[in-house]
Amino acid sequence: MRTREDCLKLDADDPLGFARARFSMPEGLIYLDGNSLGALPVTTAARVEEVIAREWGGDLIRSWNTADWIGLPLRVAKRIAPLIGAGEDEVIAADSTSVNLFKLAAAALKHQAPRRVILTEGENFPTDQYVLQGLEALPGGAAELRTVAREELLDALNDDVALIALTHVDYKSGAIHDMAAITAAAHRVGALALWDLSHSAGAVELALNGCGADLAIGCGYKYLNGGPGAPAYLFVARHLQDKLVQPLSGWMGHAAPFEFASQYRPAAGMLRFLSGTPVVLGMAAFEEGLKTFDGISMREVQAKARVLGDLFLSLVESRCRDAGFVIGCPRDSAKRGSQVCLWHPEGYAIMQALIAEGVIGDFRAPDVMRFGFAPLYTRYVDVFEAVTKLAEIMRSGRWHEGCFQVRAAVT
Ligand SMILES: *Cc1c(COP(=O)(O)O)cnc(C)c1O
Repeated sequence: MRTREDCLKLDADDPLGFARARFSMPEGLIYLDGNSLGALPVTTAARVEEVIAREWGGDLIRSWNTADWIGLPLRVAKRIAPLIGAGEDEVIAADSTSVNLFKLAAAALKHQAPRRVILTEGENFPTDQYVLQGLEALPGGAAELRTVAREELLDALNDDVALIALTHVDYKSGAIHDMAAITAAAHRVGALALWDLSHSAGAVELALNGCGADLAIGCGYKYLNGGPGAPAYLFVARHLQDKLVQPLSGWMGHAAPFEFASQYRPAAGMLRFLSGTPVVLGMAAFEEGLKTFDGISMREVQAKARVLGDLFLSLVESRCRDAGFVIGCPRDSAKRGSQVCLWHPEGYAIMQALIAEGVIGDFRAPDVMRFGFAPLYTRYVDVFEAVTKLAEIMRSGRWHEGCFQVRAAVT
């Protein structure tokens, strides 16, 4: 078991310790929810203010050229590429994760015809399942969704399958899929593999090209610190880009948007995966979020993530022994992302009591208490204090108080 002093020592020796100063963190708050909404970078407010006042207010429409607003989707993508093990010409920032999944899954199906099966797992993040269900429900019947349990995925890969679509790090349990092995298994039967990196990028080292991944999508507002509702991104392996055409064929994906031609003609490369106009303010904030990774090694980020998670779990095991928690994530840090979870039937109320004490995690139905560790700003001592507060709440039974039982709209 580690003491508070051990944790302070770990922080003092932390090669990533300097990065916390890149964020504006409320005094006294322990924030263990960077996996849901990344913290605010210190530069974001001034940059967004500049985009509003000078670029929008002063230069008005000229800023599409003078401030290169039009180039934002590719400019932002250049900062994402090294974090996910992709080439700069294989990524573009656009839309939301949900919309990007629709675009890429639909494009993959069209390419894979007459195959029509999309394989996924029943534990996949709800929006991913809903989007694939929506694709299946489209008139024309081009898609058939096959949803199986995690352990059955490899057996379910056969030569009916057009696409396997999975979330790399599970949003609840934090379990990591073996991207290289599953992608290789998909390729052996002629299927494509699409990875949702929402809970991976910025937290674990990724090698999309190293794993031979075909397609990927991911979220901008979690570990990438892009701000609430930030744009998302998508990846298409170079060799597939000109073979895929996505169905939300808007003008920004046209080969020559400002010719205003009446017939759609997809742009070359990643631009064809755009639909409409980029969300300029959101992109500006996203760009600042990504700058927090300047000079940061993702190998070091993942290494710290693993130690933070192990520290949390071992402290819970030793200090909350009879509290009724069940560890709901892989105990082996090589098998999980940068989040851990505890199961408890009263998890919602316990989490509310913890938040009232200034330790922010979150809750996922039915009984999952989730704690995410963003290695750029979470300190070892934060983990220590968080478990101290958790142990106190369990000892005092404070979570029984009525105010902690009432569910808010967003958990
Ligand atoms: C957070 C998350 C999303 C978010 O999708 P939005 O379109 O931004 O709402 C999608 N998939 C996974 C796996 C996520 O973790």
